[in-house]
Amino acid sequence: MTSQLIDGFGRVHRDLRISVTDRCNFRCTYCMPAEGMQWRAREDLLTFEEIQRLARIMVEHYGVDSIRLTGGEPTVRAKLPVLVEMLAELGVDLSMTTNGVSLPSTAAELKKAGLDRVNISLDSLRPERFHELTRRDDLHRVLEGIDAAIDAGFDPVKINVVVMKGINDDEVLDFVDFGRDKGVMVRFIEFMPLDADEIWNNDLVFPQAEIIERIKAAHPIDPVKRTSAPASRWSFADGGGEIGVVASVSDSFCETCDRVRLTADGQFRACLFATDEKDLRAMLRGGSSDDEIAEALGHTVAEKWEGHQINQVQFIRPRRSMSEIGG
Ligand code: SAM
Ligand code: SF4
Repeated sequence: MTSQLIDGFGRVHRDLRISVTDRCNFRCTYCMPAEGMQWRAREDLLTFEEIQRLARIMVEHYGVDSIRLTGGEPTVRAKLPVLVEMLAELGVDLSMTTNGVSLPSTAAELKKAGLDRVNISLDSLRPERFHELTRRDDLHRVLEGIDAAIDAGFDPVKINVVVMKGINDDEVLDFVDFGRDKGVMVRFIEFMPLDADEIWNNDLVFPQAEIIERIKAAHPIDPVKRTSAPASRWSFADGGGEIGVVASVSDSFCETCDRVRLTADGQFRACLFATDEKDLRAMLRGGSSDDEIAEALGHTVAEKWEGHQINQVQFIRPRRSMSEIGG
């Protein structure tokens, strides 16, 4: 019988994020250090069979209906299309967040394997700034990756832009034009305190209100009714598509959150900012039954806190950075 992953505040969780690797071919300043990341050993990562088993338990026991692959950079995990095929068998909405650099050669294969949607991260349309932000000289390849995703038939293609005050906030309108020209949905993301170098401070957050003010000065937009998705959305009055803002810091959406996370090393997290994790890898490798694992999932979500409390004195930074948790 299908139950629900429900917490003490009545929130039902149906959206699973799976980090398939902690490795990455970029080193974005707001996420990873330039050097010195210690990758986990291969045997510490869940195998495809283990990932599929956990995903199946969540689908069968709790009605999880949406799975997003993330990382690190998911496309650096060898044979990713095989995992996509295994998860597509579960009949969920299957998506991926990627830096896009590998999409020119992988988009069509991933689509064929059963991936439904992609979000591509891109924080500057200017080659020099792109290099400063990612520490890689690959803007042209990410742009080709966006085209490859559109050509492969992913719909919608979304572009994730982390906006940082004084660093790339002057590109908000460039990204709006880029999204309208290409027919992709741009989602601006507020910088969150999950960077490995701990450079985050509130002065670097370019808040949703300022993003919207800047867009409104150039294009009439109307708010779209909110769903459980993290982005607040606005549609262009002239029918030229939509933009979204993920305002985790200035307008937290904790009260509608329906998301749970599985790290590449098999730790289950009920919140991006959780300070504790349930070790599912130990259960899988220790011979636990599906029912026992389902019970552990249910308990972890039942104990979820009300919200993350960024900007309040009681906020505790998670031990892991975004690339290790899976954004
Ligand atoms: N490597 C893939 C990518 O970059 O899309 C997937 C993993 S990445 C951790 C997932 C998302 O988290 C990306 O859109 C990235 O821009 C975002 N991200 C990383 N660090 C962040 C931070 N400190 N604040 C806000 N978003 C962040
Ligand atoms: Fe890698 Fe994505 Fe983090 Fe950039 S944001 S360093 S691409 S995991």
